[in-house]
Amino acid sequence: MDVVATRVDPSRLPMWAAGILAFVCGAILAFSGWSEWEWRNNELRNAEVELGNLTRSLTQHVEDTFELADSLIRGVVTALERDDGKPGGIERLQAFLTARKANLGRVRGIFAYDQSGAWLATTEDVNLSNYNNADRDYFARHRISADRSLLIGRPVRSKSGGQWVITLSRRWNHADGRFAGVVAATIDVAYFAQFYRQFDVGHRGTISLMARDGTLLADNSIPNPQELGRPMLETIPYHPLSGVLRFRLADDDLDRIGTYQHAQRYPFLVLATRTQADVLAVWRRDALIRVGVLVCLVALVVAIGAFLVKQLLQRQRLAAALAAKEENFRLLAEGSSDIVTRIELDECIGYVSPSTMRVLGWHPSQLLGKRAISGVNPLDRPQLQEMLDQIKKGIVDEARATYRMRRRDKSEIWVEATIRATRRPDGTLDGFVAVTRDVTQQKALQGRLETLAIEDGLTGLANRRRFDERLLEEWGRAYRDKTSLALLMIDIDHFKAFNDSYGHPAGDECLHTVAGILADEAQRSSDLAARYGGEEFAILLPNTDAAGCARLGERIRRALHEARITHDHNGPGIVTASIGGAVCRPGFERSAGPASLIEAADRALYAAKDGGRDRVVMAGEIIELPSGKTPATVPA
Ligand code: GH3
Ligand code: MG
Ligand code: MG
Repeated sequence: MDVVATRVDPSRLPMWAAGILAFVCGAILAFSGWSEWEWRNNELRNAEVELGNLTRSLTQHVEDTFELADSLIRGVVTALERDDGKPGGIERLQAFLTARKANLGRVRGIFAYDQSGAWLATTEDVNLSNYNNADRDYFARHRISADRSLLIGRPVRSKSGGQWVITLSRRWNHADGRFAGVVAATIDVAYFAQFYRQFDVGHRGTISLMARDGTLLADNSIPNPQELGRPMLETIPYHPLSGVLRFRLADDDLDRIGTYQHAQRYPFLVLATRTQADVLAVWRRDALIRVGVLVCLVALVVAIGAFLVKQLLQRQRLAAALAAKEENFRLLAEGSSDIVTRIELDECIGYVSPSTMRVLGWHPSQLLGKRAISGVNPLDRPQLQEMLDQIKKGIVDEARATYRMRRRDKSEIWVEATIRATRRPDGTLDGFVAVTRDVTQQKALQGRLETLAIEDGLTGLANRRRFDERLLEEWGRAYRDKTSLALLMIDIDHFKAFNDSYGHPAGDECLHTVAGILADEAQRSSDLAARYGGEEFAILLPNTDAAGCARLGERIRRALHEARITHDHNGPGIVTASIGGAVCRPGFERSAGPASLIEAADRALYAAKDGGRDRVVMAGEIIELPSGKTPATVPA
């Protein structure tokens, strides 16, 4: 299977980072929202469970209360029917009821009426003849219905006490089954209201006792006579017996949660409600804090993230600018014909530009890590090492040197290097940068210029300037070393005539040949053969005595003969030269300096000319002059 490696494009990194950050923050907020929603629903469910439990136990409580009242009613009905028509029956019943008055508990009163609604007996301490209950709704219903079951009537204002009461009633019959009257028990609406107020359903919550048809019998609020007896909710199902309702009451229009529970034995139900706002109040407050804190944290993370992304973008821009700058520097370094070298503190090469290939024949990679001075001519290394040491010690920051380097093909070139210290921001040295240039050609040119400055162009011998310099030097040396210094002056005989006969170029050629002879004869390295001027030459012979000097003059004279350069206007028919020699010992003699040596040699030369040419005359020598002149001594 091929694995395709995917790489994140670094330039898209900030976008990715921002995207991931947004996703994570969004996910955190979404998760928090979801969990808050769950929390909220949980609160509602818990409220439903609590309300369900409450309605169950309150229903039980009402059933118990009604049971108590009903058992009293049934007892009275039984007593009335048993004693119907018998004398003293009503009195016994009244006595019984009066006796029970003290322990009626939740039941407010028990009342027995005859078929006309007249009061027969009661637990209330009132005058019975003042009252008639035929107008009561429950009374009318019992009269027309043979049904003998318990009737829960609408709340009514008590005739005896004036308070609102719930009535429970049963019909009692004569022995033949005709309607004989009604037995009723009353329970104060206020009793239930007070009892229900003990339960916390929030300040807008309700606990209501209702007849099965939805008629309000009692609730936890202060009983409002207008409300009582009116259907409170139109649709509370009978199946199932208990359930949860979500609804709004017409009077406050608040979302409510309610649970109802129908009693099994009696036709009533208990409905408990709480407003959704009350149920969720604590959750709402806490959720606000939690979400607020979370939103702050996310905002903080987003702010930090945005800052980092901005930094990343900025850094990328800087890196791009730096890369462009580096590219420019690289182009400069690599496009330059000079070698740019980065030398580390250990004096090894850390970078070298590609021009090293052209200049030294080495590929840059072959030089990396090598010692910077390894290709330098061993003779020049100390100079270079000294330079590096001086930069390291901080004596100089930049130095320049010209030295020889070996190329890969073993040839040697001259280079000129400028080495500069590079420093860290804190100023400490972190290496060197060297710019090295091939100066072999310049060096050759310089050598050539130097040669031109001291060489005679026609003959290749030292020129007059060089001769004068060397004469001074050798004079000084001879003076210090107390050695002798000899000089030969050579002048070609009748050279004007040679030029005239054979032409100037032939004259030049002749001069060249003579110079070659002189150079050959002046064999010692310290000897210097020079063209003194025109067709006159000089040979400086350090540490040479008169005999040696004369011998050399003679050798030159002979060599010139052997060269046999035709010169018809000269006596022997060939080119000859007159040679004058002089020797001095500057350390021992008082003289006028180097000039005196030249003068002496010159005089000897003229003596040689005078003596007939083609000869060597040493200063101080006695020579024969031709044509009968008296022999003369050449002054030394
Ligand atoms: P002498 O034997 O007395 O020395 O006679 P000479 O003819 O050599 O006399 P002189 O020294 O007066 O003549 C020098 C001549 O050398 C003059 C000039 O024509 C010639 N000469 C000097 N320099 C050069 C040169 O560079 N090339 C050529 N061809 N001739 C030169
Ligand atoms: Mg001459
Ligand atoms: Mg001359």
